[in-house]
Amino acid sequence: MNAATLSTAPRRLLSRVRDVMAGEGSAQSRLDQITHIIGADLVTEVCSIYVRRAGDVLELFSTQGLSSDAVHVTRLRFGEGLIGEIAAHATPLALSDAQSHPSFAFRPETGEDDFHSLMGVPVLRAGRVVGVLAVQNRTERQYTDEEVETLQTVAMVLAEMVAGGELIGRHELLPADGIALKPLRLEGTVYSKGLGIGKAVLHEPSFDIADLVAENPEHEMQRLRDAFASMLGHLDTLLNQGPLSVGDGGEHEDVLEAFRLIAEDAGWLKRTEEAVRSGLTAEAATLKVKNEMRARLGQAADPYLRERVHDLEDLSNRLLQHLTGKGMRDPEDMPEHMVIVARNMGPAELLDYDHTRLRGLVLEEGSATSHVAIVARALDIPVMGQVREILSKIDNGETIIVDGENAQVLVRPGEDIQQAFHETRRHLEQIKEQYARLKDLPAQTLDGVNIDLNINAGLLFDFDQIEATGAAGVGLYRTEVPFMVRAQFPDVEAQRQLYERVLDRANGKPVIFRTIDVGGDKVLPYWDELDEENPAMGWRAIRISLDRPAILRQQLRAIIQAAKGRAINVMFPMVAEVEEFDDAKKLLYRELKRQTERGGIVPERVNAGVMLEVPALALQMDKLISRVDFVSIGSNDLMQFLYATDRGNPHVADRYDILSPFALRFLKDLRDKCDQADVPISVCGEAAGRPLEAMALIGIGFRRLSMPPPAIGPVKEMVRSMSDRQVAQFVHSVLEMPHASIRQRLMAFAKDHGIQL
Ligand code: PEP
Ligand code: MG
Repeated sequence: MNAATLSTAPRRLLSRVRDVMAGEGSAQSRLDQITHIIGADLVTEVCSIYVRRAGDVLELFSTQGLSSDAVHVTRLRFGEGLIGEIAAHATPLALSDAQSHPSFAFRPETGEDDFHSLMGVPVLRAGRVVGVLAVQNRTERQYTDEEVETLQTVAMVLAEMVAGGELIGRHELLPADGIALKPLRLEGTVYSKGLGIGKAVLHEPSFDIADLVAENPEHEMQRLRDAFASMLGHLDTLLNQGPLSVGDGGEHEDVLEAFRLIAEDAGWLKRTEEAVRSGLTAEAATLKVKNEMRARLGQAADPYLRERVHDLEDLSNRLLQHLTGKGMRDPEDMPEHMVIVARNMGPAELLDYDHTRLRGLVLEEGSATSHVAIVARALDIPVMGQVREILSKIDNGETIIVDGENAQVLVRPGEDIQQAFHETRRHLEQIKEQYARLKDLPAQTLDGVNIDLNINAGLLFDFDQIEATGAAGVGLYRTEVPFMVRAQFPDVEAQRQLYERVLDRANGKPVIFRTIDVGGDKVLPYWDELDEENPAMGWRAIRISLDRPAILRQQLRAIIQAAKGRAINVMFPMVAEVEEFDDAKKLLYRELKRQTERGGIVPERVNAGVMLEVPALALQMDKLISRVDFVSIGSNDLMQFLYATDRGNPHVADRYDILSPFALRFLKDLRDKCDQADVPISVCGEAAGRPLEAMALIGIGFRRLSMPPPAIGPVKEMVRSMSDRQVAQFVHSVLEMPHASIRQRLMAFAKDHGIQL
């Protein structure tokens, strides 16, 4: 890079803006000078600055060219007019004919009817829109990309002035009403179970960057590159020597590997270099690219892109650390027991914290398959996500409880709550120990009936739970889950390796491979989402697999190869018609034939089963039964479709009960039909993991259940305290009742008979 290629125009503008900002006079008068300078530099007739005020209102704070009467009078809501549009989408607009834009809103007090073209950019601070900077011209001017870039760079410098609190109070920049000091209970979604208490550490890396405008751009470029190289070096050390570096093949390794690749991909470095070229210091350039990325991609509907934003933010923060020479956190200054609170974060950022002190993680955003959630689960830390606005409700050092058992977070809990929490924790630990002691005991009822308890698994670390819980095997391996956390669709070899590890970890216990069930609520980040009105009933699971047989064939091939001669169980999801099962089974046999023809080892036994989760299939049992080796009832979907109630909608969650005489009769009928044909049948929906429901299912004759791993202990305890004969007798006595639920009766029965629920 030589100085000649560094563009000088934006740099000159930036230095002038900076001089004004650092100069004398009130904030308002400096702002007025700045609009003047920008207008003159970019040769525009208007330059205006709007600042965001509480309630998502944009107020005209300064203008050069519009009527001065409009200053502090004109206010626009987010989304209102072109200025509101820029703020709402956090993206620039450059329009040669602004008035014909559908969002144009005419404000007579501004006198802007004379101006035809408009270019505006959001003023971003820490990913939040804090204002809008706009210029206008009388002519229908075509603004160039370089001009948009320049305006963005100036906007970034302005953001510091807005954030400085001179124009409006800092409290107006907070996302909510500031920090209330009351104890608070916030709800969210559990991404990793467990209980944790500690002092909050807000993961809000803030860097005080004194110099935004470069004195010597060449020097800045060199600093950027040096910092980048040293960041890569440190990252390698972290990933190779951190607490998760021992290769046991869990998905967190894929996640961290992908992260390393992004770090090496020079795309974002190039953008940062461009920002340096426009006149910013290396720190300011890094910050600018980070802010823009967050604003642009943070709202993306695509989960893959959203995940990438966190990875890139993680990298930007790291780069800033190397540039400023300041570590974001000194491990020695961290609380002994800490709970990290973040909007969201990248996977490696969590590893920066001393994991021996980590007691929990709380995210404002995130999802169960977020990269950071996967890493946290590998570290065995409770994680709660989707805890709205928590960052604005808590401060560093305040006590916080992460209750991943009850999907809640308690902020500043009182002494009594903390006391109760410690007791619950002790109690849970005792129960855990008790379940651990149960692990080697049979799941046998008091009158000697054995129940086969299996786990449902998704990620590799779930397979460790077979051993930990003493489960009989894996009754449902949701093969789409590993697909969901990857950056791209795994090829046959990648799948084969994964399935081989799965079978190795199962160590001879049976695993039911459910073929890929995507669609509905399960989105693959690298597949274009279909715009379906009703995705749960849309193009999903076996429907995709049969329409795109290559996907299913590759998966079946990988399972067959991974078996290396061991027995396999394959189950097809969302089958609605017998013919669909036949077609899927044909593909399975085709793959077996292929394996034989190529001289590969074929599994010693192949069981082809069906997931029974569509009522239409349940009504065709007579045709189906002779074709299948086993049946597993997916009660989550079966109940959703039977009662026409969305399984994810809390408004209808309690409306219909699987513990109704009708639903139980329906399930019993399926059970009887399988029994007559000597076909094994199990239940693998969430209901099977709830002790009361499990009791009723056993009462109507089910002998095989599959559930989330933490449910094995409680269900086994229940099984060991019940008499099959007594429960069956009672359940049958209430099966003909006309009620919508017999839950209370079952509970009373369990209580009277000492059944542990
Ligand atoms: C079910 O539908 O009950 C089931 C177990 O499958 P999933 O929850 O993966 O849809
Ligand atoms: Mg299902």
